[in-house]
Amino acid sequence: MEFATFADRAGTIEAEPADLEIVAHVRDLLADAGNDGEGRRSSKDAVEPQTLELVARFVQGRVFPAWDSTTLDIGPSACYEAIARAAGTNVGADDVEDRLAEVGEIGDVAASYEFGGQQGLGAFTGGGGVGAGSGGGVGAGSGGNGDDLTVREVYDTLEELAAAEGSGSQDRKVDLLFGLYNRCSSEEARYLARLVLSEMRIGVGEGSVRDAIAEAFDVPHDRVERALQVSNDYGQVARIARDEGLEGLDAMDLAVGRPVQAMLAQAGTVTDALEEWDEAAVEWKYDGARVQLHHVLGASGGDGESATETRVFSRNMEDVTGALPEVVEFAEETLEEPVILDGEVVAVDDGGNPLPFQEVLKRFRRKHDVAKVREDVTVRPVFFDCLHAGGADLLEEPLTARHDRLRSVLAESDVGGDAGDGVADDDIEGLSLLWRTDDPDEIESIDANALEAGHEGIMLKDPDSTYSPGRRGKHWRKRKPDVETLDCVVTGAEWGEGRRATFLGTFELSVQSGDDLETVGKVATGITDEKLAELTELLEPHIAAEEGQEVDLEPAVVFEVGYEEIQSSPTYSSGYALRFPRFQGVRSDKDPADADSLERLERLQGE
Ligand code: AMP
Repeated sequence: MEFATFADRAGTIEAEPADLEIVAHVRDLLADAGNDGEGRRSSKDAVEPQTLELVARFVQGRVFPAWDSTTLDIGPSACYEAIARAAGTNVGADDVEDRLAEVGEIGDVAASYEFGGQQGLGAFTGGGGVGAGSGGGVGAGSGGNGDDLTVREVYDTLEELAAAEGSGSQDRKVDLLFGLYNRCSSEEARYLARLVLSEMRIGVGEGSVRDAIAEAFDVPHDRVERALQVSNDYGQVARIARDEGLEGLDAMDLAVGRPVQAMLAQAGTVTDALEEWDEAAVEWKYDGARVQLHHVLGASGGDGESATETRVFSRNMEDVTGALPEVVEFAEETLEEPVILDGEVVAVDDGGNPLPFQEVLKRFRRKHDVAKVREDVTVRPVFFDCLHAGGADLLEEPLTARHDRLRSVLAESDVGGDAGDGVADDDIEGLSLLWRTDDPDEIESIDANALEAGHEGIMLKDPDSTYSPGRRGKHWRKRKPDVETLDCVVTGAEWGEGRRATFLGTFELSVQSGDDLETVGKVATGITDEKLAELTELLEPHIAAEEGQEVDLEPAVVFEVGYEEIQSSPTYSSGYALRFPRFQGVRSDKDPADADSLERLERLQGE
């Protein structure tokens, strides 16, 4: 397919406001690209991508597949220089930039010049500082204005451009790009400029391409979606849909080494979670950076040593292996089968306690001086999901089964090969703990422990849910931070039991109503033993009456409490109850007279 045809279709799509029509145009474009006369091939052949694959990516502004971290690595100013050189001897990169400031969009700028005929000048006379002889490969002899530039030639040149490294590579990149512009018509230049700067913006989202593939090759949308989830490659999915149909799509699997989009979480409350699921899977929420670990065991070499390969990807599927040697070392020491694991990398102090997120950022994506920075900030991975293990994809398995598999994968090296049944979960290095419960109090105490251990809070997950790459669904919820806190007067308490018999706990909370205090709930969770001892000391002098374990307190101390909701309730004298109240701290700066009022409670409930 000629690049001019692609540009023309891109123009039509860009001018189309209706989504359905856009899908129809993309469908036709893919169908035409798919009939480009190239031989068809089976998915097993690792040969270069076909025009259909390229068009399926170009239309989204991608040169390489979504999973591929390869970038063109060419900055805007190099692009301006290439445009300027193709535009003629009187034009400089500054002029292109000025025009961009006026027009606002690089495609319009590129389309505003006349290209062609500069190959002799640009490439060989060194206009704009080009090395002699460079850049001629693409441009030479073609004579400008879109005569025969093809989609494939554009790709091949951009691939060569991406691969240029080392000294002089920026000049080489400019040369290659210049060679392309020099063969472009205005409209081709418009879309080339946008493609190179990843700013295609013709209104084609991932969903449009998914639907267009389904329609062009007559395969069900949901199966295209699944194939896209496992491969992250619109081009490959389009080609397989065309060549192998539904059967081919369904046979597509995850590949160790090729990143998958991460499943994402929504904000949500304990109430939502327990209303929707019989019980919740509760995990700590680690304050770090998302990582996806891919680990393969290579074939045994002649010396009997087996080579392994580990790659680590960020949430955006960027390859961050080089920045995180601890993760690679962890994998090499721990893993005994090929896996894809999902987790978080956290910065830790010498005692292994988590450090704030800013510390991880000093390490994540770092390309230089990794060994040196590693001495200052140590990171460690914690994994909470297993997408693939021992040759089997697990995306369709329920969370709890995936977590069990994760456990056995991480326990292997500790226990010499079996599933590690005798080992406690918290002794398995790198394993995120998972509790299953329908008890809100237990969830509160997991949350309190998470915070106490220096983590961000908790995640609530549907134990039966499958892994949906790239989805921000309601199956994973990060516990919503509490709504505005309330300052309540402590008007009662209970003596604890057993180990806590000498501590006051289960504190009764009240708000002001005129000259009276009305109860709104009891708070028992979110308080460590150490804190209980402190609170007992603070409250004991204010005991007004005692009966059994119950204690009445004179109004003296104010607690700040969080909660999820205020409900109408006959249980307390205010007529309201705090749902899931949580102790946040003592407001030693406040007297009971400064505590919140029933009126504020009513106002908050109405919000
Ligand atoms: P947020 O970044 O606030 O949208 O929260 C979701 C992020 O929390 C995920 O993308 C992970 O990077 C991170 N996270 C930390 N702990 C967990 C966990 N146990 N399960 C899932 N995600 C987690």
